[in-house]
Amino acid sequence: MKDTIVVGYGPCGISCAIYLRRYGNDVLVLGKDGGALEKVSNIENYYGISSISGPDLLKQGLKQAHSLGIEVRTREEVLSIEAIDGGFEVVTSVGRYPTRTVMLACGTSRNQWQLGKRFEGYGVSYCATCDGFLYRKKKVALVGSGALMKHELEVLKNLCPDVTVFTDGKPLEEEISPEVKVVPEKITELFGSEKLEGIRTESQSYDIDGCFVALGSASAFTFAKHLGMQTEGNRLVVDDHFQTNIPGIYAGGDTIGGLLQVSKAVSDGALAATAISQFLREKK
Ligand SMILES: Cc1cc2nc3c(=O)[nH]c(=O)nc-3n(C[C@H](O)[C@H](O)[C@H](O)COP(=O)(O)OP(=O)(O)OC[C@H]3O[C@@H](n4cnc5c(N)ncnc54)[C@H](O)[C@@H]3O)c2cc1C
Repeated sequence: MKDTIVVGYGPCGISCAIYLRRYGNDVLVLGKDGGALEKVSNIENYYGISSISGPDLLKQGLKQAHSLGIEVRTREEVLSIEAIDGGFEVVTSVGRYPTRTVMLACGTSRNQWQLGKRFEGYGVSYCATCDGFLYRKKKVALVGSGALMKHELEVLKNLCPDVTVFTDGKPLEEEISPEVKVVPEKITELFGSEKLEGIRTESQSYDIDGCFVALGSASAFTFAKHLGMQTEGNRLVVDDHFQTNIPGIYAGGDTIGGLLQVSKAVSDGALAATAISQFLREKK
């Protein structure tokens, strides 16, 4: 079991991993891509560096982590985080990793779906593991096209006899059982009076009892829904020690909002690592 799994290898994740490693902890970093820095052409406001491109800064961070012997898996999407005895299991597109603590440094994106907002809690869910049972033996839609959709489908298939995947106009990225119906058209509307009753696409309407959203990649928002973490708007809520309301799960950087800048992400990572080390010491 790892001491900490850090989700994200942006400035917050790598800073956190460096401090954790230097405090003597066993840490693994999992990330699916370079996050916000991949899109930054030039940074001119970071202490000590007059000018650097985002991808170059990212490379420097990875190099520093590797030089400390930190394992960073750079193409591994985290799909869910589950509570287990003594910690958590981080589930990725490749495997499952047990860990005592988790640091969420996953940037700002979240896959909350504007079309689904009206029926959130009234037929629209972001977590098959949490809410799938409510729809057992019912007709459900699963919106998504990638690894997250496939992960949610595995859960739903065991509970609901009738699952239709709606890719919302995107190509299906994952191979799924040919028995599952797939609607590739764009979704135009969710309808219902008090609760969700159906989905309309460009050419047809479908009656459904529930709709699970698994668009894009999992984000801090998805993990929050799975574990019952407190959110405020699109940010995770943490205490003064960067701990969420779930003991052992920490977050920092753009994921918790505030100043969306590299300097703050780096600082959050260092402070969270210090708190995580303390938490681990108290548990040992
Ligand atoms: C166009 C642009 C220009 C900017 N210019 C500046 C600037 O000049 N100066 C400045 O200080 N800041 C700038 N920023 C902001 C800065 O890039 C961010 O504040 C900073 O990168 C946040 O760091 P982070 O580590 O919190 O998140 P990110 O850098 O976004 O890293 C998030 C990490 O989480 C990973 N992740 C997310 N979800 C998953 C998942 N499900 N599974 C696995 N991994 C996951 C991502 O792959 C990534 O590795 C700019 C941002 C943009 C977009």
